[in-house]
Amino acid sequence: MTEQGSSQAGNNLDPWYHHYADRAAGLRASEVRALFAVASRPEVVSLAGGMPYVAALPQNLVIDAMERVMRERGAAALQYGSGQGIPLLREQILDVMALEGIRANADDVVVTTGSQHALELVSKLFLDPGDVVLSEGPSYVTALVIFKSYQAEVEHVPMDENGLIPEALREHIARLKSAGKRIKFLYTIPSFHNPAGVTLSWERRLEVLEIARQNDILVLEDNPYGLLYFDRPAPDAMRSVEEDGVVYLGTFSKTLAPGFRVGWALAPHAIREKLVLANEAAVLSPSSFTQSVISEYLSTADWKGQINTFRDVYRERKNALVGALEEYLPELTWTNPNGGFYVWVTLPDELDSKAMLPRAVTELVAYTPGTAFFANGDGRRNMRLSFCYPTPDQIRLGVRRLATVIRDELDL
Ligand code: PMP
Repeated sequence: MTEQGSSQAGNNLDPWYHHYADRAAGLRASEVRALFAVASRPEVVSLAGGMPYVAALPQNLVIDAMERVMRERGAAALQYGSGQGIPLLREQILDVMALEGIRANADDVVVTTGSQHALELVSKLFLDPGDVVLSEGPSYVTALVIFKSYQAEVEHVPMDENGLIPEALREHIARLKSAGKRIKFLYTIPSFHNPAGVTLSWERRLEVLEIARQNDILVLEDNPYGLLYFDRPAPDAMRSVEEDGVVYLGTFSKTLAPGFRVGWALAPHAIREKLVLANEAAVLSPSSFTQSVISEYLSTADWKGQINTFRDVYRERKNALVGALEEYLPELTWTNPNGGFYVWVTLPDELDSKAMLPRAVTELVAYTPGTAFFANGDGRRNMRLSFCYPTPDQIRLGVRRLATVIRDELDL
């Protein structure tokens, strides 16, 4: 057994412990997960999860689409389908992406089981043990889990209020290359970042693409939140200016509902062919049924109006969160996102967000500690607060409770 395999500490009760592949070593439940089970009790205000507020989607829209699908093409919807996804849906996905400046061919779209699965497939295609993935620091926690499961090393590049810092990216690449490391791709969430809440400026998008091009590094652009802006749209997608060096990931999870589990990858031809084969190997075909329902919904419902409804809901909740932070916790600093689901909070130096979480849960409020979003243990002084699911009143209550916990910890 390798070092990594033997590092599955605490699993001695598992009779299969010595049999797992090395790549399973990273698949460990965190201590935080156990706390989140407690935090799902109704009396706890959870600012921890990233669940979209699906109640803002009228159920009739889905019921109508489902009924028409079953009446008009039920046999196809219940059958296996193409490993690449339904052709009509792939065309419709082009209309969604066009809202962020992307022009593409439906042949280059691969429908996946949520964009999470696209992340998994791209990682499977590119990552060998010891390869390096560059990502923002912090980054999306479940992407980090995938990279780790392919035994890649994650190198975090810092951000500021305008997203990833190009100069830092250059330095990291130079250092890694001189150390003989193989960098496989840059994983980036340029718009309304999870968890940081910031957006990469247009100038920086161009600069980051140029750096990637110069260094022969693929860009994996993950964009689940781009259409959920509050005041002004995010800059166009990076894929809108660079076709060959970008794999773009999209999803219906936030603009419609995550229960469908339908997302997609838009990839250069060669990569797209491999993605389709990998998709077939993993799931044969993405769900014909949910793809058909989404396709029908896009054909018949006011899907852009529905996105506006979501934007209104999340704008109000973001304002409630930031307003409550200003009122109850003015000594902290936080990002003020113009879209998406998350605010990234920085605590005073003496506080540790992970150590404080049990206290917070006792006070009936939950958040995600910053360390979850780093592969290297950073983030102790940070927490992610999600405003997507609780109501504005619950959000205010949650921040008030959080303020009590923080004041106590600081002995104020
Ligand atoms: N990427 C990011 C940045 C996310 O926040 C999420 C969901 N929280 C995903 C990918 C995966 O979303 P889905 O699989 O539902 O499309």
